[in-house]
Amino acid sequence: MLKPVIRTQNGQTTTLPAFTIDVTGSTGYDIRTERFELQQGRIVRCLPEDALPDLYVTAGLINCHLHWLMLGGTSFPDLVDTIKNRPDEVLEQALENAARSLRNGITSCCDKGAPSYTTRRIYEGIEAARSNGKAITKTQYSPYMLVVSNAFAEDWCVHVETEADLEWVKKEWAETGAGIVKMIPESNFFPEPPHFKWVFDHALFAKARAYAQEKGLIFSIHGKGVESIETGIQARVDSIEHGLQATPEHLRQMQALGIFLGPTLEGFECRLNWSHAHGKNLVMAEYEWEKSTALIRTAAVLNEGKPFPNLIFANDAGSFNTPHGTLRELYLLRQCGYSPEDVLRIATINGATFMRKQTEIGQLAPGFAADMIYWTKNPLALEPEEWANLTDYIAAVVSDGQVVHLN
Ligand SMILES: [Zn+2]
Repeated sequence: MLKPVIRTQNGQTTTLPAFTIDVTGSTGYDIRTERFELQQGRIVRCLPEDALPDLYVTAGLINCHLHWLMLGGTSFPDLVDTIKNRPDEVLEQALENAARSLRNGITSCCDKGAPSYTTRRIYEGIEAARSNGKAITKTQYSPYMLVVSNAFAEDWCVHVETEADLEWVKKEWAETGAGIVKMIPESNFFPEPPHFKWVFDHALFAKARAYAQEKGLIFSIHGKGVESIETGIQARVDSIEHGLQATPEHLRQMQALGIFLGPTLEGFECRLNWSHAHGKNLVMAEYEWEKSTALIRTAAVLNEGKPFPNLIFANDAGSFNTPHGTLRELYLLRQCGYSPEDVLRIATINGATFMRKQTEIGQLAPGFAADMIYWTKNPLALEPEEWANLTDYIAAVVSDGQVVHLN
């Protein structure tokens, strides 16, 4: 039986008093004591309190880069076969991962695409489970990742080599209710510089970009190499994932244009751990880990000691050996020099802005979804090392005004 962090009395539903941690300013944070009045899953009023509460409350976290249909394993050919031939198995595991993610405070997310073309039924199953009341993370989807021959992950993504291919994908985006276009415009890793090569057709890239703009879809590109990063900046994409070879000048341009960077440090750490354990792909894994952490250390002090603000919580959960439902990415951002309030801002406000839902999620204010995490300690007062076990401090998680987890 869940303890009531929410209670209904005389027809009014309110949360228990707690210290609200507010990171809506561009720097620093505010703490105040209040309760929230809720109606139909939303906050309708903030009620100041004098009592000294036991708990702290923040908005729910928003993971802007995960893959529900990738299960954190290491064999993608097998997974593609399972998706095609035994979709119910994938659905069951995806739902389990989405439930664990919500219990760990991830109330909303962006799915950046699945391996294989035959994914629609599984995504529909995830949505149906949520509508039927299953406690899982809310998701905005990109049902496919777009590639061409010789691109990274070309074996399990949708090839867009011709106008006809692009027309097929446009139809799919429209029919599946996709919110995001995700593209992998570059090659796999080469040991020699420049390590990654742009391989996408530039004209088709521009057409896909224009289509996303016209339809209001978020446009994200995989950007490990310099050409991808520079093309992405020029095209004013919404986010660049990984960004391994981004320079301080690239970061400044992204900052000026409001382009987000999804660091995926946890994904790189998981690959590195696997490579060490198996003695495979070490050159790539070490290059990616060193470049990604150096980039975020640079970003943390980009503006004369102040951070590059446009990071999103993006851990690549589900991709090669990377588990779902962890908050380790936030610990790694702290290790690279981001302050606790900046990390919280990244994982709430920035995610909401990236998803174009900045008036719906990511804040605890009237009109916003009642997506919240109750904490036993102030997460902003935890030592950097304690962020490695951030979930230990979660007392309760609320999604759309329902208590979905209680420790
Ligand atoms: Zn990914």
